[in-house]
Order: sequence, then C-alpha cells, then structure tokens
Amino acid sequence: MKHSFPRPRLLVSRCLGFAACRYDGAQLSSKVVETLKGHVDFVDVCPEMEAGLGVPRSPIRLCLKNQEVEVWQPAESRTVTAALSGAAERQLKNIADCDGAILKSRSPSCGLFDAKVYAGVEQPQFLRWESGVFGKLVLANLGQKAVDDEQRLTNIILREHFLIKLYVWTRFREISAKPKMGDLVNFHASHKLLFLAYNQSRFRACGRITANHKQLPAVEVFQLYETEMGKILAKPFRRQAMVNTLYHAYGWIAKEVSSQEKHYIINTFEEYRDERIPLQAATRLIEAQAIRFQREYLLGQTLLHPFPLELSDLSDSGKGRKVK
Ligand code: SF4
Repeated sequence: MKHSFPRPRLLVSRCLGFAACRYDGAQLSSKVVETLKGHVDFVDVCPEMEAGLGVPRSPIRLCLKNQEVEVWQPAESRTVTAALSGAAERQLKNIADCDGAILKSRSPSCGLFDAKVYAGVEQPQFLRWESGVFGKLVLANLGQKAVDDEQRLTNIILREHFLIKLYVWTRFREISAKPKMGDLVNFHASHKLLFLAYNQSRFRACGRITANHKQLPAVEVFQLYETEMGKILAKPFRRQAMVNTLYHAYGWIAKEVSSQEKHYIINTFEEYRDERIPLQAATRLIEAQAIRFQREYLLGQTLLHPFPLELSDLSDSGKGRKVK
C-alpha cells in the first residue's frame, strides 16, 4: 500500500554533509541525515561561519567567566561571544517553521545537550555539559518539535521517536496553515492509536480541546492543541505502552485471523517487546491484515505508517538513552 507523506522542513548543522565548514576544514557525515535526503527539505546552518569566523579557524570553547558562559577562542586570545550569539539569533527567523532539527553533538555552537563548559579561560578545567550557543536557542524555539543530535540518533529508540515526531509536527504544520476544525478533528482521529501509545491522559485532553465546547475560534483551538500535543510527544513512548497499543489495534482484526496467523502476529509483537525488530515490522503486519479485511479505521491510523518505510533502519548504537 502506497502512502503519501508530507515533506518535513528540517534544520541541520551544515557540517553534517552539506559543507566542509568545521573548524579544521572537515565535512562530517551522519547516516540519519543521509537517509533523510530526498524526504525532507533541509535548512542547513553553520553559526560559526555566519559569525564570520572563517574556515579553517582556531577552535572555540565555552568558558565560565564572572559566572557567565563566554565563547573563547584561545589561539586568538579573544572572546567571540557577541559575534556567535548574534549570528545564532539571526538564524531564528529562517528556522521558525522547521519541524525539527538535527544538530552536531558536542559542538560549543550547535551542541544541544553536551557542549563542554570549562571552569575558566586561563586554566581550562572541565566544569559541566550544557547546550551550545545555537543549540540553546534551537531548544528554546523548536524544543517541542523533533530536535536531537546526530550522535543520539544512532540509537534506534531515539531515532524512531524522532522520526515519528518529525512527521507528526509536519502534518500538524500543514493543517495549521489554514486552521479548520474539520481538519483538526481528522488529525486527532488519525493519530489516536499513536498518541495513546505515548500518553493516554494527554491524548484525552487533546480530545477535549478538539471537542471545543467553548466554541473558541479555530486559531485558538489549534494553539491549545499544539501545546498539549507537544506534551504528548515530549518523551519517547514506553515500549510496554506501545505493545499494549499494538494489541489494541490487533483487536480490530482478531476475530478474522486464523489461529496460525494469530500465533504469528503475537510472536511478532513479542519480538518487538524484546527489542529484536523495529516498530514498523509489527505495524506492517497489522496493516496487511487491515488491508485484507478492509478495516478502514485501522488503515487511517498514522501508527501503521508513522514515517516513510525507507527511513526505517535497524542499526543501533545504544548511545544516548540516558541523556534526555
Ligand atoms: S558544529 Fe555547527 S558551528 Fe560547528 S561546523 Fe558544524 S554547523 Fe558549523
């Protein structure tokens, strides 16, 4: 069955496959970014280049000075805090309608969670991890969307969560362009199983917003829904909750399948529970049965096709599960 998917707008650190702009003149590669090529519209940004630091350039680092984090360029003995912060802020209008971001880990500019902060300028000792200058702004402005770094996205759980979020936010952006209550009702209905796997009580809160008993204007309802949906998707779904949802979906076809098929489907769900197969292996099985028995309700659920199948990737580093 061929599905059509919207085209996400994705912010990406430019050095991740778009230009040789790293401080040492290198260009990096990221498998997840490569895989997304052809599926998304990239907005590539290099804050250090935008700040006029050139390439190659001496490395910069974040240092604590007078209780403030300063961006220091040791080889030049100068601070570039204002230049980098200004450059990062100038990007905000370009990235405002992005559905997500993949930024370079550990960078003092792009890092989201793991830029090193040193205790001082003169005798640098590692002090703590925090967001880089641009990473902090991205989290403040796009934090509800699909935002992560390329290193954490080598982890299959975080990557699946990221891709699900990316496409949910893209679908929502599309219907938000001209807010109509009918579109929101359809959106909510088609995300039911997916959102139930994430957070049942918040899904119900979204339902109350969609019911719009106070007869609010559609624009206001969309804003309320957006805030609540951000909370639904704030954390990856728990595998147990997803397995429960798979069984819930299975309930729609359970009476029709043979005992042999039932055995096969349940085994597949359990393999998913044991982290031996990706989510889409289980959902495609339900989808095949939904096609066979013409279960239109199931076929309309984004849970069965949350993102293009070509983006599914079994590889897993296991990294980053405890970072966020
Ligand atoms: S990490 Fe960010 S600032 Fe550094 S080279 Fe890559 S895009 Fe530029």
